[in-house]
Amino acid sequence: MKNRIKIVQCWDDGVEDDIRLCELLRSYGAQATFNLNAGLHDSSPGSPWQFRGMKEVRRLAIKELVKTYEGFEIANHTLTHPSADKITANEWKREVVEGRERLEDLFNCKVVGFAYPFGHCPPHAVEIVRETGHLYARTLANATPSFPPTDPMVLAPDCHFLNPRFWELYEKAKFVGAPAFYFWGHSYELCSEADWKSFEQKLSRIHSDTDVEWGSLSALLE
Ligand SMILES: [Zn+2]
Repeated sequence: MKNRIKIVQCWDDGVEDDIRLCELLRSYGAQATFNLNAGLHDSSPGSPWQFRGMKEVRRLAIKELVKTYEGFEIANHTLTHPSADKITANEWKREVVEGRERLEDLFNCKVVGFAYPFGHCPPHAVEIVRETGHLYARTLANATPSFPPTDPMVLAPDCHFLNPRFWELYEKAKFVGAPAFYFWGHSYELCSEADWKSFEQKLSRIHSDTDVEWGSLSALLE
């Protein structure tokens, strides 16, 4: 039996559109990781911000988190989403350690993944993430094949889900026999019904591709 390529994905920032995204992913049996900032979820949904003047985006309320992400993997995106190059090493360490601990308490599970806010990952920040018990940390660089990574602490996914070369890179990963194809995004980038339809078509095409299967990031890196 030939090895199927694992299709892995992760989504950042813990916003309200994740509710719809999770339902959609479940309907295709897709696994995914959600990168969350434990310190930014309050008792009610957070104050909104504008995405490209097209929509209001809000973080989920803390009480919505466990139910929303049931069955998905949770990873650390720091406590409050600072850029690693704008705070001290001590502040960064607290952001990384406390972010992870609070997610582990909230979800009652082990958190092994990390995603750098804004993709910023100066060397000292990388070493702190490595030292604090994470197995991998995602950057905003791109690489095909994405797996196996040279250093999982500066993990480069294949592409963003809206990358116009998505299918070209997907086919390339299959062609070179990569163990996985890895895409990422924010659910708030799905602005219109047409955007949702288009993303659902991606899920459907992947779901019906007998060369691939859904996979989880932590399983690939353990
Ligand atoms: Zn983010």
